[in-house]
Amino acid sequence: MPKRSWAEPFKIKMVEPLRMTTRAEREKALIEAGFNTFLLRSDDVYIDLLTDSGTSAMSDSQWAGMMLGDEAYAGSRNFFNLEAAVQKYYGYKHLVPTHQGRGAEHLLSTILIKPGDVVPGNMYFTTTRAHQERAGGTFVDIIIDEAHDPSSLHPFKGNVDLGKLEAIIAKAGAKKIPYVSIAATVNMAGGQPISMANLRAVRELTKRHGIRLFLDATRAMENAWFIKQRETGYADKTLAEILLETCSYSDGCTMSGKKDLLVNIGGFLALNDWDIFEEARNLVVLFEGLHTYGGLAGRDLEAMARGIVEAVQEDHMRARIGQVEYVGDHLKALGIPIVLPIGGHAVFLDAKQFFPQLDQLQFPAQTLAAELYLDSGIRSMERGIVSAGRDKNGEHHRPKLELVRLTFPRRVYTQAHCDVTIESVQAVWENRKTVRGLEMIYEPKHLRFFQARFKRL
Ligand SMILES: *Cc1c(COP(=O)(O)O)cnc(C)c1O
Repeated sequence: MPKRSWAEPFKIKMVEPLRMTTRAEREKALIEAGFNTFLLRSDDVYIDLLTDSGTSAMSDSQWAGMMLGDEAYAGSRNFFNLEAAVQKYYGYKHLVPTHQGRGAEHLLSTILIKPGDVVPGNMYFTTTRAHQERAGGTFVDIIIDEAHDPSSLHPFKGNVDLGKLEAIIAKAGAKKIPYVSIAATVNMAGGQPISMANLRAVRELTKRHGIRLFLDATRAMENAWFIKQRETGYADKTLAEILLETCSYSDGCTMSGKKDLLVNIGGFLALNDWDIFEEARNLVVLFEGLHTYGGLAGRDLEAMARGIVEAVQEDHMRARIGQVEYVGDHLKALGIPIVLPIGGHAVFLDAKQFFPQLDQLQFPAQTLAAELYLDSGIRSMERGIVSAGRDKNGEHHRPKLELVRLTFPRRVYTQAHCDVTIESVQAVWENRKTVRGLEMIYEPKHLRFFQARFKRL
């Protein structure tokens, strides 16, 4: 039977016009933005692939739910709807809503981490690690080596290296490890999944040592999709069943609703332990808001509750990840260098192979993101030496990889937008030999990739 398309399980009811720009207009906008895609105005962007965070399109049911927001200060009905959805689909007993993922990370880190503690994790995420460090902890990477190798085709590059975990437990002592922090999927590894077998093994190992396990479940539904596709014994299970099993190997999770859950803002901390819940419920009042709204409007809680039910549907996830794979597969077929396997939320272009003529300090990935914008108005993100920043001695971190991330918002762009993206990447690829690099002319102290400015060499 011929292969069938991943076509979207929805039709479009409302449209948001995009401004089409000329190359001359983009050249001007790019110079004004210092060749940094973060500094572009979104009005000057045609297809925005900067991030999939908070950029999803909500459904008619979610928008209808917004009208049913109960904006009572305490005990909003939308809180109870969200609580019921979290209990049903994630399986945790207690819920503390937060304004987004980092709000939940703040609560968990503050409650569980003491100065001098060690927090092992399968590669870091920026805000997660920052909160662990702020609470006095030290993050230790326990992901398998394949995660750092763009040419490895390992199907579960998010897996934990159990040997590394055992070594850190032996070295630091279980008492110094408040919890192990497991992301599913691993954003910084390119949206790569962790397998159920590996997660189960991590749970068994940590349990023997009396160490808790907390999930970063921000992308756990995308992870469930990969388990269903790739892991023996899961092909006939529903995503909801796989999600429940995933969560059952943990004591709780932090969650950014801005990813899997199809909302523009929102997050939560969910867990089973009553004492930790009690403390989180007390603290959230200080930082976010009362424990039944956590910094969100009642309508936001409702949209997230409905988003949970929609996001765990098979049809939705097939189209979501299918779209990312569509772009990745086409680029691969054109011989354009990308990171493999293709992850859940993004395609990563290998800028070093685009521009072998550029030194790393001529910023190949930054250059590629700029060239792509110039060609078609597509906005992407640098993940290379600019994002990596400098070390304690003021030297540039020199990451092995110079990548440009094309990140796909959920339910937002059409297949024709995908085709334009493929064509534009191809055009830049064909002109790659004529491209000159960039010089950094302004460098901020912290997280420089957001605000650094460049000029053409
Ligand atoms: C986005 C993200 C976070 C942080 O969530 P925010 O809602 O942006 O605060 C944490 N972990 C992962 C894996 C993420 O992708």
